[in-house]
Amino acid sequence: MQIIPGVYLINGFPYGQHQNGYCIKTGDAQVLIDSGDLETPTLPLVERNCERWGIDIARSSHLLITHSHFDHSSHAARLQKNGTNIVCSRPCADALAAGDDRCVGFAAHGRFEPCTADRIVDDGEVFTVGSLRFTCMSAPGHADSSIVPDNPQRHGFMVCGRHYHDGA
Ligand SMILES: [Zn+2]
Repeated sequence: MQIIPGVYLINGFPYGQHQNGYCIKTGDAQVLIDSGDLETPTLPLVERNCERWGIDIARSSHLLITHSHFDHSSHAARLQKNGTNIVCSRPCADALAAGDDRCVGFAAHGRFEPCTADRIVDDGEVFTVGSLRFTCMSAPGHADSSIVPDNPQRHGFMVCGRHYHDGA
């Protein structure tokens, strides 16, 4: 689903899945934000959803993860093996490297494949790929590792991960 030009929802409720995932695509950059699953492996579904919009997921240079929970990060290791760089906060990087309870794998099928982040962003740090520019704000609460990537310059959106919800 294209939300606004260049911003695609590639996983989540419209596809019968719990977790949202996004692809931001411009003429010179392609970045994923969150990619994971809860109870069933969904990376093939994400790839098919991308294909519908002419997006080759393998051309994504970076996966920006909002927090370490399984449903937002469990595709990281596989995407990294295909050449995608993993970007996240320092607490998220620690959790992904350990693949431990901070990834909440125990709440789903429990098979979390650890990976090492390629780039760590601290609070307020700007992450740039081509013409895309994200300011990454630390937002601990739902998870200690949470960040909110903000892209006001080009598309005027921010991705809140799981920071605003109904108490679940
Ligand atoms: Zn979460």
